[in-house]
Amino acid sequence: MQDDLFKRLISHCKVYGFIYPSSEVYDGLSGVYDYGPMGAELKSNIKEFWWKAMVQMNENIVGLDSAIFMHPKIWKASGHVDAFNDPLVDNKDSKKRYRADQLIEGEIEKLEKKIEKEVEKARKRFDSFDEDLFRRTNERVMGWAKRAEEIGQQLAAALSANDMAGLKGMIDELEIADPESGSRNWTEVRQFNLMFSTQMSNVAGEEGKLYLRPETAQGIFVNFDNVQKTTRQKIPFGIAQIGKAFRNEIVARQFIFRMREFEQMEMQFFIRPGTEMEWYAHWKAKRMAWHRLVSPEAKLRFKDHEALAHYANAALDIEFEFPFGFKELEGVHSRTDFDLGNHQSLSGKNLQYFDPEEKESYVPYVVETSIGVDRMFLAVLSAALEEEVVPDAKGEDSTRTVLRIPPALAPVKCAVLPIVRNKPELVDKAREIFNRLKPYFQCQYDEKDAIGRRYRRQDAVGTPYCITIDFETMENDTVTIRERDSMQQERIPVDRVLDIVREKTDIHRLLEQLS
Ligand code: ATP
Repeated sequence: MQDDLFKRLISHCKVYGFIYPSSEVYDGLSGVYDYGPMGAELKSNIKEFWWKAMVQMNENIVGLDSAIFMHPKIWKASGHVDAFNDPLVDNKDSKKRYRADQLIEGEIEKLEKKIEKEVEKARKRFDSFDEDLFRRTNERVMGWAKRAEEIGQQLAAALSANDMAGLKGMIDELEIADPESGSRNWTEVRQFNLMFSTQMSNVAGEEGKLYLRPETAQGIFVNFDNVQKTTRQKIPFGIAQIGKAFRNEIVARQFIFRMREFEQMEMQFFIRPGTEMEWYAHWKAKRMAWHRLVSPEAKLRFKDHEALAHYANAALDIEFEFPFGFKELEGVHSRTDFDLGNHQSLSGKNLQYFDPEEKESYVPYVVETSIGVDRMFLAVLSAALEEEVVPDAKGEDSTRTVLRIPPALAPVKCAVLPIVRNKPELVDKAREIFNRLKPYFQCQYDEKDAIGRRYRRQDAVGTPYCITIDFETMENDTVTIRERDSMQQERIPVDRVLDIVREKTDIHRLLEQLS
């Protein structure tokens, strides 16, 4: 069912111009995607919503747009050269490559699925079913849950100890087979660095080796001093940035969930050491409030990290229920002074901040929020896509595909439709209305096909409002406005159209709810 939704979503994205596989005429490039006309609009609206919520709504957050190429020592200092690795394992028979940790997580997921199946079976068997009690007392369920927990703990311990032999031992012990070929003939597990590299033209050898940034955050760290001095911000303050990041993911799959080229929206919040837990709690709550404005609450949850990254002393994910289950959408990390401290040591430049209130100098601590634009895009679309049975023009059942995208994020806000196209006065009037609206938001003018088909086309790309110009318009200067979700139509005066659509689709109404 969920698999089905995911397949439909991918095909919907292609058919309606949201997302195309990159280089499709050459059969695509794995883990890389292009955004089509609708996708480019939705992506830009997501970025605007984030940027305004962070930079415009917080006096103590400023923006930055740093370069993708940076001095190679940055990646040494940040720990990426030595520690930005995933455990790689090859299957000797199928020649396929996998992430060892994901293969092991797959075993945990299998156990979780078994538990869910057992719970569902019991729910059908008993009239008054106490799920909690069942989970706590059913021997089989308890056994599987315990096993899943043990595997999870063993995995976390091996990952944080960088124990590649331990991971290989788990693969053997759990008798994990290649999901495609069924073979258990594995190589040893080894670390694989996820950074892409290239060469600068004017410097030969290792010295000229550059990396495509694997995160936007380091551009913020190395500009901390510049930004603080030029903006005269006092701690606590933040720097926000949106930009491309590149990771040579071992297995790029699940569509735009895991890509090799993607975009991040990151904010580093610089604070006094010792205040990090307070700010960690603050940004945890703030970011969840942002998500709840555009995503259903039931699809969001927090998950604390079990294994902390090399730079963090506390970390959590905001997870979203994608069609393939709850997965990381955003990270909130307390990064201590790891990055600034290392840049200070390796560059020899003083990156301390003099705190005028505390009358002391220190290397600031950092709490960061980091979200992938593409994952947010996937979250919005997967919650929005619906197929429903509705009566057609003749009153018979028909299926409509609708994208219930929050209006403020919708690629097109309004479609202007003359009811017929062979009456010049209707067409002229529709064009006049379209021209009046287009400076304010994305509109589409469409006169082709029967009106019902045009409504369906707009539903499929998530347009929240359709304005129809009909014969009555010529008599009393009114039009109908059709709302996407309810399909209700109302007559309104032509001179109210701009205000009504603008009010209902305005991103600033969402931002008001954040203050
Ligand atoms: P994962 O565990 O899924 O690999 P991560 O913990 O490595 O993610 P971070 O380094 O915390 O991710 O990156 C911050 C955000 O960037 C993630 O929450 C996610 O939204 C996004 N992101 C990371 N890797 C990718 C990717 N390969 N494709 C798309 N988005 C990504």
